[in-house]
Amino acid sequence: MSACVFCEIVAGNAPADRVYEDDEILAFLDIRPITRGHTLVIPKHHAPELDDLDAELGTRLFRVGHRLALAVRRSDLRADGANLAINDGKAAFQTVAHTHLHVVPRRHGDKLRFAGGLILRRSTEPEATAAAIRAGLERLEAER
Ligand code: 5GP
Ligand code: ZN
Repeated sequence: MSACVFCEIVAGNAPADRVYEDDEILAFLDIRPITRGHTLVIPKHHAPELDDLDAELGTRLFRVGHRLALAVRRSDLRADGANLAINDGKAAFQTVAHTHLHVVPRRHGDKLRFAGGLILRRSTEPEATAAAIRAGLERLEAER
């Protein structure tokens, strides 16, 4: 049993609503989302902070975050934008010591909802939400 909850998710020992996976990267819903569809993108390899992350893997991590930002716009979540962020290190309020990129879908005029989400961090219909993002990725793929 790993001490790292995200490594446990990668290994399939802890549950998560997965939205994307390849040989090196995994993306799944944040258990306490700020907005609906708030996703975490992680390297499968355990890298606690950016200092530990291979630069090429960091590039792949962002590439997936980039695609998710495009996918949520094309999904039934109907996002108009997204906040992408990495809290790197305890000084930056990183609470899970396995590098992760937050992708937080945003809507025009959602300022109050966003502020409430920062406080409540409540998950609604995670399975349907994950399915909507996966469908958004498929729509994005179909544009190629
Ligand atoms: P940080 O503050 O480290 O940037 O963010 C860590 C994020 O991980 C938080 O948004 C938190 O809700 C999320 N999180 C913590 N534990 C779990 C978990 O077991 N499963 C999932 N899906 N998300 C988690
Ligand atoms: Zn880990």
